[in-house]
Amino acid sequence: MKINIEDVFNKSDLLTYVQLAGGKPDKSGGRYSCACPIHGGDNETAFSVYFDKGRWKWHCFTGNCGGGDVISFVEKWQRLNFVQACEFILGEKVSDPELLYKSASERLEEAHIEEQAARERKEARLKELQVAEKHLYYHKTRGAWARDMWNQRGLDDGIQDWFFLGACDDFSYKNKDVLYHSPTLSIPFLGEENELLYLQHRLVNPINPKDKYRPDMASREIDLPPFMAVPTMGLSFKGGLVIVVEGAIKAMVAWSRLTIADVQVIGTPTQGGYKNLTELLKDKKVIVIPDPKGNTTNENILRQPIELARATGGKLLTLPDKIDDYLVNLDVTPNGFYKLLQQARKP
Ligand SMILES: [Zn+2]
Repeated sequence: MKINIEDVFNKSDLLTYVQLAGGKPDKSGGRYSCACPIHGGDNETAFSVYFDKGRWKWHCFTGNCGGGDVISFVEKWQRLNFVQACEFILGEKVSDPELLYKSASERLEEAHIEEQAARERKEARLKELQVAEKHLYYHKTRGAWARDMWNQRGLDDGIQDWFFLGACDDFSYKNKDVLYHSPTLSIPFLGEENELLYLQHRLVNPINPKDKYRPDMASREIDLPPFMAVPTMGLSFKGGLVIVVEGAIKAMVAWSRLTIADVQVIGTPTQGGYKNLTELLKDKKVIVIPDPKGNTTNENILRQPIELARATGGKLLTLPDKIDDYLVNLDVTPNGFYKLLQQARKP
């Protein structure tokens, strides 16, 4: 049987296969979204089907399923190899797989480009983590100036030890291709096994005052994890209360001012970083304490804290100040903070 790869594409319908696999794709804009039919889960935007360069493609954003064209979807879904997937689509045996491979060369080349990009992203992440293994060194060698700065932020020496807070006297970073130097305060993000997930550097003398965390944002391919005040409890721990604030420092300040044992405080990795928490915090007792948004008109940033509270059935606590400033400036006691939390309301 003579066969061309185009026949395979012409005879296939990615959207139908996605539905057969259990996906319920919803159209929004030019693409379709649903929970990923390959790895499961119920995040309804985890999986995307879209039209690109003349072909229907798919991508899974939350699992390790990857993405590709209809053939790679059938491979993953039916656990078939390439030729078998083509046979599945054509509904007949392929007797000339060599030719099939040949005409697939363009497709394979595309796959290699994607593979290369994925490898580069991974390497960038590993490189960052190798550098990040310095967090204990930064903690031990932090100078008096850093201890003072941490103290001014409301984190005393004992809390600095607890969170392994540190400092780097001379950190170099790039801004628009120019190399700058600044001391930094370092914040390790630890995982459930207390393993290092990420090391955040807060520039003390940023070239742009709005970009204090520039070195972390430079490689946007790295997904910053949320900061957990009690790493070993994890993100989805059973029991108590989960408080969500914006950023690691606020999470540490808030946590250090609570005396309730059964509480996790999570710092969103970026201002818009609430979205990924929805799934993890479903059915937990959640209180979201967003920063006051001042003059922000960015709908997305305004909406996200409210949406997280709604989606988790949680509450929202709005304050006139950022939570860390509020607690530190008013010297709020644990009891006072506890009472404040009781003022949280359903959004
Ligand atoms: Zn998936």
